[in-house]
Amino acid sequence: MHEYPVTLEIVRMAEKTAREKGGIVKAIHLVVGEDSGFIGESIQMYFDVISEGTLCEGALLTIQDVKPKMKCDRCGCLFERKKFSFTCPYCGGDGSPTDIGKEFYIESVDLEVD
Ligand SMILES: [Zn+2]
Repeated sequence: MHEYPVTLEIVRMAEKTAREKGGIVKAIHLVVGEDSGFIGESIQMYFDVISEGTLCEGALLTIQDVKPKMKCDRCGCLFERKKFSFTCPYCGGDGSPTDIGKEFYIESVDLEVD
């Protein structure tokens, strides 16, 4: 349920951009890491409700999903985290968590300006 306030914030920010440029929002492109704690589907659901009657109404919401990655302590490679395994697929070393997969931001907003 905590997607509600962030979706509200997304709509507000996109509206602000649209208002500054004097247009309407055609699309919002989001980047959402799998470890961000936010679920894209929920954001989409709230977006449809929240955007009603705003400059974002009818806009397309795209959500780019980012898979979490580990960094190998031995060879420094980045690799996708597997369930129950932190082992580097290149050298067999141990991986450490990184911030990749925790992203949550608006990458861009497409506007239609008259
Ligand atoms: Zn390695």
